Amino acid sequence: MASARSLSQFQEAFSDEASCAAFMFKRRWPDGFVCPACGKRRVAALKSRPRLHECLDCGRQTSVTAGTVMHRSRLPLTTWFWAAHLMTTHSNGMSALQLQDQLGVTYKTAWLLTQKLRRSMVNPDREPLEGVVEVDQAEIAFREGDTFSGNAGKILVIGAVEVIERDTNQAKPRRKHAKYLDTRSGRIRLAMIADNSAASIEAFVNANVKRGATLLTDGHKSYPGLTGYRHDPRVVGKMAAHVVLPWIHRAFSLLSRWSLGTYHGLRRKHVDTYLNEFVFRYNRRYYRHVSFETLLALVADKEPASYWDIIKRDNPRKSASQAGSMPLLHIDEPDSAG
Ligand SMILES: [Zn+2]
Repeated sequence: MASARSLSQFQEAFSDEASCAAFMFKRRWPDGFVCPACGKRRVAALKSRPRLHECLDCGRQTSVTAGTVMHRSRLPLTTWFWAAHLMTTHSNGMSALQLQDQLGVTYKTAWLLTQKLRRSMVNPDREPLEGVVEVDQAEIAFREGDTFSGNAGKILVIGAVEVIERDTNQAKPRRKHAKYLDTRSGRIRLAMIADNSAASIEAFVNANVKRGATLLTDGHKSYPGLTGYRHDPRVVGKMAAHVVLPWIHRAFSLLSRWSLGTYHGLRRKHVDTYLNEFVFRYNRRYYRHVSFETLLALVADKEPASYWDIIKRDNPRKSASQAGSMPLLHIDEPDSAG
């Protein structure tokens, strides 16, 4: 299997449609091809159309991109791969505008590519956070339309981060109120929530943190009702939350800076997908050179989304709408140790 740790290795490994299609083929059928029509395994690649493989038993042609995010895309696979590589390996990520320049495609195409790839930045098999987990909420500014003005609104984001002891490399719960010294940040999760109610906070914690974990919080009144967790409120008196919950506050401030620096502010409508990207990048910050392959593997597993799903409007050409079929609020990460 090709591995592309540097730009030149990437360009060499994925120089044409055939090499990209071969990569997708191996990701989709790691244990060998099985014909979706007849279940037999003998297959031949079509030389003229690298995406297609033909079953030698029943003749059915199967595309390596059928059922993936790339489904029905008219873009060459090399463009998809190049976009995934740029988005994951560039130190701050890439806006659609930057991608448009790099790929030589229209802005709309670049924007859809970034949205589709961002939606793939969640591993459906992710494991919940565990051990000792800081949880807190923050308000992040968003922009409306194309301008980012000083009086933009705020969205409420909740985050959780694992607290790992440096010397043992483990998340070791201490007695309540004891200090956690010399720690580092493990994996994070982020989601947009409607409010600070116990229901909103519980839904996030239940979806993202393993039962039995120790929750370090600012003692907000919405936490004590959470069952199945050990709650250790950290804020005593006037002590500032960023002192006692350093890792989640660091993540929030990185999120703020990243969203302003790379995207000039997040757009409310698509906040969840940007949070996906931030979490994906954060959890792989030490493995950026290989995260491109992780993303493509996720792309290979992901159901296709239509343009209308992505812009979150009803398709005017379809009378019956599937409005409200959104989600992907809960984010994460999978296989890194970061
Ligand atoms: Zn067949």
